[in-house]
Amino acid sequence: MPVARGDAIALTRELVRIDSRNPSLVPGGPGERVVAEALAEILREWGFDVEVHDAAPGRPNVVARVARGAAVGRSESGRAASLMFNGHLDVVGTDGMTHAPWSADVRDGRMYGRGSCDMKSGVAAMCAAATRALDSGVEGEIVIAAVVDEENESLGTRVLIERGVRADAAIVTEPTRLCIMPAHLGFVWIDVTTHGRAAHGSRWDLGVDAIRHAGLVLSALDDFDERELGARQHALLRRPSVHASLIDGGSGMSTYPDRCTVRIERRTIPGETPDQVEREVRALCDAVAARRANFRADVRVTFAQAPSDVSVSAPIVRVLDAALRATGESVRVEGMTAWTDAALLNAAGIPAICFGPGDIGLAHAAEEYVPVEEIERATDVLTELATRWCGGRTTEWRS
Ligand SMILES: [Zn+2]
Repeated sequence: MPVARGDAIALTRELVRIDSRNPSLVPGGPGERVVAEALAEILREWGFDVEVHDAAPGRPNVVARVARGAAVGRSESGRAASLMFNGHLDVVGTDGMTHAPWSADVRDGRMYGRGSCDMKSGVAAMCAAATRALDSGVEGEIVIAAVVDEENESLGTRVLIERGVRADAAIVTEPTRLCIMPAHLGFVWIDVTTHGRAAHGSRWDLGVDAIRHAGLVLSALDDFDERELGARQHALLRRPSVHASLIDGGSGMSTYPDRCTVRIERRTIPGETPDQVEREVRALCDAVAARRANFRADVRVTFAQAPSDVSVSAPIVRVLDAALRATGESVRVEGMTAWTDAALLNAAGIPAICFGPGDIGLAHAAEEYVPVEEIERATDVLTELATRWCGGRTTEWRS
């Protein structure tokens, strides 16, 4: 069924109906190819130049553009203005869902489905907004980037950046309930392995209990969380945090365990780095070792993603603020808790903030929906934003 030009709600329905579970997270998941091809086709019909390139085998990003003039538009700050809309096409698994995942049924003004909120409604809103902004006559360039694999390793946005796709600013249309979210947390994964000595359960004189030693690390971590992390603050994100995610150790009831691995996740605020996080965990282990002669532990960072932080007075935040006011929306600025591709874009020098329809609290949940009217409101705001940022004349359209 063709999707009418600029119709964000119909496009959301079309995208939700295509299963695009991330195959790196969900064994047997079909990936993004089918949904990417469908979106590429629709964007071509809507008048965009569309490029589809594999970020990984069979997992294509969709990049769509219409350049008006030679990107000589002026933003409110007077610079040549181009804008990237960025959203991911992959979704997480459907285990435990309480409704049909791919039906896009609408009940009580809510469209249900895996990805309805996270984040096919956001992708649809940004595509519709780009179309409407172009129709209103913007002069700068709008780049639509619909990417793969955000839910796992963000291969899509990484490859997009490697290929040199750039803009003066970006909006990542993750679900923010139409709040401006200029910052989000990062995270660091750390393995702590304590080494004990295996022995018969009766031989306290020989055995060294690796699990109890892991307990000492956890206790130190608990204290560190209260005392130290609780005192660190970011204006929007509040405090960083730490939790133990997984634990593995021991071989039998009557055996002293010779090793135990605790896998820890540390959520970081802007300014905290993986090196620092590793040093801090090492220092906690060193403190335990100082009072336990036979305590020995390895600390290893296994994965990290940086936090993202754009100033609340940055031009893209100010223009989004103005676009919200111009469309009759209230302006709310909050921190995002979840990690997003905005961090990668920021690291590549593209100020990127999150704004989109839906509530991140429903992402990955047993019940996932997006309020239908929020899709339309987000599209209005994004159209206004793109029109202002890319230097077009103020639009009169309102749906
Ligand atoms: Zn998402």
